[in-house]
Amino acid sequence: STTRTPLMAGNWKMNLNHLEAIAHVQKLAFALTDKDYAAVEVAVLPPFTDLRSVQTLVDGDKLKIKYGAQDVSAYDSGAYTGEISGPMLAKLKCSYVTIGHSERRQYHGEDEAIVNAKVKAAFRHDLTPILCVGEGLDVRRAGNQVAHTLAQVDGALGDVPADQARTIVIAYEPVWAIGTGEVATPQDAQEVCGAIRGRLAELYDQELADQVRIQYGGSVKAGNIAAIMVQPDVDGALVGGASLDADEFVRIVRFAD
Ligand code: PEP
Repeated sequence: STTRTPLMAGNWKMNLNHLEAIAHVQKLAFALTDKDYAAVEVAVLPPFTDLRSVQTLVDGDKLKIKYGAQDVSAYDSGAYTGEISGPMLAKLKCSYVTIGHSERRQYHGEDEAIVNAKVKAAFRHDLTPILCVGEGLDVRRAGNQVAHTLAQVDGALGDVPADQARTIVIAYEPVWAIGTGEVATPQDAQEVCGAIRGRLAELYDQELADQVRIQYGGSVKAGNIAAIMVQPDVDGALVGGASLDADEFVRIVRFAD
């Protein structure tokens, strides 16, 4: 991961209203320094209702923190009550959008076709997808984590052209490690992240595969991030619970210290 800038992203899930969001981002901005931004890219992924407030703060104070959303509609506009479109997120200057998070797959029935359609919707509007993939406990116990996760990568990227795919971020998040306190071992993370890069080389080419950032996610904390980040194919972390504590998230961003 020598030429890839690590991406440390905080997935707030359904937490923090817009006032709490401002206070939280202000805390992050106060703690983070140019040294941090030189080493890694830092992003927050708040609920939709916080995005305008975060945008105003980031613009007004010229913060180097990036932000994005946790989901996007596959459609650009129309009769889709309750949905949020790519053009809406682009208008708010979002950089990123997570797609196919395991909670969306589990609780909202998102299958490979929907994830693929959302990835393409993001790319249509210059939003960088953070594509979430990873196996559940049953698949891990059967030893099928690599095949399962690569099938998700294939399904999501199917007809995505190389000029778009080269900018994607992929988050390997074993479902059994999300929100459970049970972090994958660094070797487990490397096994699947390495396999994902190998698949990108097969689907596209090695040069593209070497550019794509692959994050690990699942019970990342300040105390376990350093060992994960030394793995050659891990280029950052998608952090859920621990990203809600500003001090802890800053320590995760500074994994090297
Ligand atoms: C996530 O939701 O993407 C995640 C990794 O959650 P946690 O860090 O809480 O396990």
